[in-house]
Amino acid sequence: MTEIINMDNNYRESILKCAATIKDGGTVVFPTETVYGLGADAFNADACKKIFVAKNRPADNPLIVHISNMEMLEKVAYIDKDLKEKMEHVWPSPLTLLLKRKNSLPDIVTAGLDTVCIRYPDNRIALDLIDACGPIAAPSANISTRPSIVDSGTAIKELDGRVDIIIDAGRVKYGVESTIINCTVNPYRLLRAGAFTVEDIRSMIGNVYVDPLAKGYSQSSVALTPGLKYRHYAPSKKLFLIENEDDFIKFISSEESREFLILCSAKNSVYASEKPIILGDNIYEVAYNLFYDFRLLDDSEKEYGVIQSFPENGIGLAVMNRIRKASFLIVKDKENIDKINRVLNET
Ligand code: AMP
Ligand code: MG
Repeated sequence: MTEIINMDNNYRESILKCAATIKDGGTVVFPTETVYGLGADAFNADACKKIFVAKNRPADNPLIVHISNMEMLEKVAYIDKDLKEKMEHVWPSPLTLLLKRKNSLPDIVTAGLDTVCIRYPDNRIALDLIDACGPIAAPSANISTRPSIVDSGTAIKELDGRVDIIIDAGRVKYGVESTIINCTVNPYRLLRAGAFTVEDIRSMIGNVYVDPLAKGYSQSSVALTPGLKYRHYAPSKKLFLIENEDDFIKFISSEESREFLILCSAKNSVYASEKPIILGDNIYEVAYNLFYDFRLLDDSEKEYGVIQSFPENGIGLAVMNRIRKASFLIVKDKENIDKINRVLNET
């Protein structure tokens, strides 16, 4: 039985109830500023095991440890003085640090690695909950491979019966996950593009190496082998990304595009053959709507989706990473959009 808790009434009492559930070895779905998380007591291996079961998450994919002050960090990880001082100005924010772990944590949290990801979220409910019972180990709340959850309605639909409590707190602020950087190497290295921008890391913390894979192309090489491609953050329906804007506009104004749910900017919506899903007017709106709209595609009558690309500066790097990882086929550069028809004929 899952209890749904709305924080509008009896805020303090509700926080304490969620904290007691975590201290008792239970699981709680809670909002953060990025996406919903599925949390358990980071020091309780049996409780953390429940996260993997509820999400159907492979055991080799480690969890992120959520803290609400620096003392909590010192219990679970090593951080050098210089970085700690900088983070006192940067946190709370959607930037996750990969650090050397301490042995206080059970192996299940880190999947046996000697490092741990630490996150200090910028959300009042999350911080009050962690204050009351943290540190909390929590990955994103979605079932593995599904799009992350950005609203409590989806959390309830996807996780009712799988967790002890779901906090019903509406939509989150950003809509894409936190940025992760590896701080055990010099220079630091971007492990996942996210809501905290690379530009801000460079101005507030220092240089960070950004691998070309941050753009999210890694999975696309087998895109023409339907069914074999491992996707992430993905809708169940097949999503096609047309990277070149002229090709995208040409496609969405064509007769063939009527079979597709079109996901595009407000600006490009005027070219759509049928009423599109408008992702937004600016890149923050696109980030905010992306995972929500992937789920609208799954619920729509259309069998396929088609989406455009966006500029990759700021949060746009994370947006394009998620779009590419979610796409069944990426039509790059000047490649002909006939490729889409070829795939449709093959499947
Ligand atoms: P999620 O919260 O579901 O977005 O998942 C947490 C992310 O952090 C996953 O991509 C993990 O692979 C990554 N992560 C957590 N701990 C580590 C670690 N020790 N080393 C590398 N990646 C990690
Ligand atoms: Mg996740």
